[in-house]
Amino acid sequence: MRRVRTRFAPSPTGGLHLGGVRTALYSYLFAKHHGGDFVLRIEDTDRNRFVEGAEQYIVDCLNWCGIQADEGPHQPGPYAPYRQSERKDQYRQYAEELVKKGYAYYAFDTAEDLEQMREQYKSPGNPSPQYDRHTRKHMKNSLSATETQVKTWMDEGLPYVIRIKMPENETIIFEDMIRGEIHNESALVDDKVLLKADGMPTYHLAVVVDDYLMKITHAFRGEEWLPSAPVHIKLWEYLGWADHMPEWAHLPLILKPEGNGKLSKRDGDRLGFPVFAMDWKDPQSGELMTGFKEMGFLPEAFINMLAMLGWHSGEEQEIFTKEELIRKFSMERVHKGGARFDFEKAKWFNHEWIKHTDSSTLLPLVQPILEEKEIKEMNVDYLVQVISLVKDRCTLLNDFYTQSVFFFQSPTSLDLEAVQSKWNNEKANFFQVWSDELGQIQEWNAPAIENRFKELATIHQIKAGELQMPYRIMLVGGKYGPAVFLISEFIGVKNCQERIKHFLNVIGN
Ligand code: GLU
Repeated sequence: MRRVRTRFAPSPTGGLHLGGVRTALYSYLFAKHHGGDFVLRIEDTDRNRFVEGAEQYIVDCLNWCGIQADEGPHQPGPYAPYRQSERKDQYRQYAEELVKKGYAYYAFDTAEDLEQMREQYKSPGNPSPQYDRHTRKHMKNSLSATETQVKTWMDEGLPYVIRIKMPENETIIFEDMIRGEIHNESALVDDKVLLKADGMPTYHLAVVVDDYLMKITHAFRGEEWLPSAPVHIKLWEYLGWADHMPEWAHLPLILKPEGNGKLSKRDGDRLGFPVFAMDWKDPQSGELMTGFKEMGFLPEAFINMLAMLGWHSGEEQEIFTKEELIRKFSMERVHKGGARFDFEKAKWFNHEWIKHTDSSTLLPLVQPILEEKEIKEMNVDYLVQVISLVKDRCTLLNDFYTQSVFFFQSPTSLDLEAVQSKWNNEKANFFQVWSDELGQIQEWNAPAIENRFKELATIHQIKAGELQMPYRIMLVGGKYGPAVFLISEFIGVKNCQERIKHFLNVIGN
């Protein structure tokens, strides 16, 4: 058995979409499950689509997700370099070899020639004619011209590309790990360019050459690459490498929440959720696209959610650590159909992960959120305790601010509406007394404070339950937060008294 080697082969053309991260994740889980290697390869041969900063962004996203490459541009390995633009010189020999064997040909057509061909052969039955077995005969290439003519063009320095010569009438069959046997008719596939006029390979040539040279055994990619698969299968065959061809897995799409069509950036904008792993600022337009990270997701929750978007463990359990995912991942349980994205479910994963993550692990994530909101000089031990107290209530990391600000500051606004209709002099009187009572409590802890509160309520002949909401509004400002007596314990007697006083002033009794 060959050592399992998978690769993630993104093109640095922009932000990393959920679907891309999921491809990387499945590729990684599969490799690790089999004790193999996961390779990151940057496919940057299309210089027109190259975007500055996109490669670093991809690397940052994978690091954030904990999807570590064993080899890649930043992890040198035996098959370096891992950036296709740096491998440029390796590809031409394979394209030339294909020409020599009669599986590819030189084509000298200009952009105008191609345009004219599309016009000339356009018909109602064929609205966009391709460069293929029919049209190639009429074009300017080494199949239609004589050898002498081709030599003259070459000597004159006419720019040319190398195209694959797709077979006339063949059913190209391959086995996909998810979809089973796939049949394609070669007659429907065009003669794709393999090597461009500038000497750069196209994706089609580079992906095959590199998967071969890097000894890739299993290739995961999105299903949008299915139409290109027959070209790649033929290249593996024509180059004499069929026995080394990786097994393919074309992953189903991640669908819009409504279930119709691929989830796009626009759906995210429309429905208010991110579709990128991390914030991505388009260097050209300056447009900023929010990422899951910045929205307040834990990477563990993000990859857990992504893993379940198209795969199922076969058990009830839904929360898995990365190590568990590696252990359990299997291709048999990857769904064939598209997976509908559900942001509420994504948040559920995050909530579960926040609840179950150690408070001291959350500390370095929560502290900057509070600091950014001008809560400075926090005692770290105190903050860890606060985190433990409120983490059950936080769905996104940013929720820690609302859920814990009152442990550090007096509320800046009071939800008086929540109490006003039932407010009266008796209650005002109760809280005047309560403020003094607080100073008398010997053992300062939540149960002791609660007992005293209830005793005093009984003396005042008011139901304690009716007093708790106003007390909460005094300390927190709104109708939320953990148990009010715990908050009292945490913030200390002085703060409790000040907040009671402030409230009584504001409500005007
Ligand atoms: N470079 C291709 C992309 O940008 C990768 C396709 C593949 O993995 O074969 O998606």
